Amino acid sequence: MSNQESNKIIVIGGGYAGLRTVERLSKNPNNEIILFDKNPYHFMQTDVYDLIANENDFAQVSVDLFTFCMGFDDNVVFYKREITNIDFKNKKIITPIQRYSYDYLVIAVGSRTKFMPSIPGLREYAYGIKALHRAMYFKQKFEMSLFNKVEEGGTYCTPINIIIAGAGLSGVEIAAQMASFSIEFYNRNNFICRKLNIVVINAGKTILKGMDKLLVERSEKRLSELKIVVKHERKVVGLTEKNVTLSDGEVLPMDFMIFAGGVEPNGLVYELDLVKNKDAYIVTNEFFQVPQYNEVFAIGDCTTIYNDGKAVSPTADVAEQMAELCSKNISNLILKKPLIKHNIKSRGVLIALGRGYAVSKLFGIYFKGYMAYKVKKIVEKVYAKRLDYRSSRGCRKIFDT
Ligand SMILES: Cc1cc2nc3c(=O)[nH]c(=O)nc-3n(C[C@H](O)[C@H](O)[C@H](O)COP(=O)(O)OP(=O)(O)OC[C@H]3O[C@@H](n4cnc5c(N)ncnc54)[C@H](O)[C@@H]3O)c2cc1C
Repeated sequence: MSNQESNKIIVIGGGYAGLRTVERLSKNPNNEIILFDKNPYHFMQTDVYDLIANENDFAQVSVDLFTFCMGFDDNVVFYKREITNIDFKNKKIITPIQRYSYDYLVIAVGSRTKFMPSIPGLREYAYGIKALHRAMYFKQKFEMSLFNKVEEGGTYCTPINIIIAGAGLSGVEIAAQMASFSIEFYNRNNFICRKLNIVVINAGKTILKGMDKLLVERSEKRLSELKIVVKHERKVVGLTEKNVTLSDGEVLPMDFMIFAGGVEPNGLVYELDLVKNKDAYIVTNEFFQVPQYNEVFAIGDCTTIYNDGKAVSPTADVAEQMAELCSKNISNLILKKPLIKHNIKSRGVLIALGRGYAVSKLFGIYFKGYMAYKVKKIVEKVYAKRLDYRSSRGCRKIFDT
């Protein structure tokens, strides 16, 4: 640390936005950064489809935040704590154990599955995939169901009925991955019983609302090739242990259901005395500051940003771009330089649609099939490698001392 007075910066949330902020701000040795997360790991949600299809194990979709932060020079530390509130007037964050002061604060707590209380049975019988423990639990349930069918083989053959509510990026990717995994599973082992019914329930007229038309068409074609049934313009209105009722009155048999039909900001946001929009997301200005406090920034999925008057879809790519600009703006604030307005747009979309197949649009260019899948894998690998480098460095520091 240099002789200059240090800047105490707190980052809440070790997701895509939080980690990129830490990486960028750590470059100034006068920044003293504390990263807080309620979990001890970073969860790579973008790779969860591979976790469910057994191509990745949980170690490959998570990064230890202790060793990650140890991997920096000595100006970054990690505390595993859940932040329960923030005292903005006195510049302190509140945890169940103690309060911590900051000069600058970045709120990057992301979003969570919104289990609507108006849908009876949703909380009890549906799985979410936005948290690692839920994704792991679901993966085990999926594998166990396939195994149970193996045991049944040759005697009787009842189908496994999987319902996915929500046809956004996560619902579509998971549906395609499960279908393609089970096809390979049955083929490889020549099982007699091969019945896996996957039904996606979609409130809109097409899947992947708001996305590029050609990507939507290609994705719909692929889902149909994988024998996934999509029921458009319907919603789930109730669940029991064995079935799902839709808004048009249809009742579908269900072994398990994934709910990917709605998200809301993570719990902390509801506690904060800040301006929020109608969906409860934190409102920020074009520099990502909250309106009341210049030193407080909010980025990633816990906010909504607009470009040309249209809401920008919340993705890891957008969260990282926000983090980069937010870090620059904090540095400018420290140096009393003018802040930079955002002009963030999605740089591209990569949609995994089963083993070895994806559709994508990157910097305006379309890809599909194995080529797009390879590009997605490269993007994921580059991201993981960067974090891995930092964690290995941290690990060496711990074991060499
Ligand atoms: C299945 C699935 C597939 C996806 N695929 C893609 C894709 O292919 N490409 C893409 O760009 N995006 C994809 N996304 C979206 C992407 O994962 C999110 O946009 C991204 O995670 C947002 O980053 P974030 O940093 O805002 O939030 P997160 O990554 O959700 O991180 C938030 C962090 O805050 C922590 N936290 C929350 N509350 C507290 C608290 N009170 N105290 C302390 N810590 C707290 C959480 O533990 C978490 O670590 C996908 C999402 C899902 C679910």
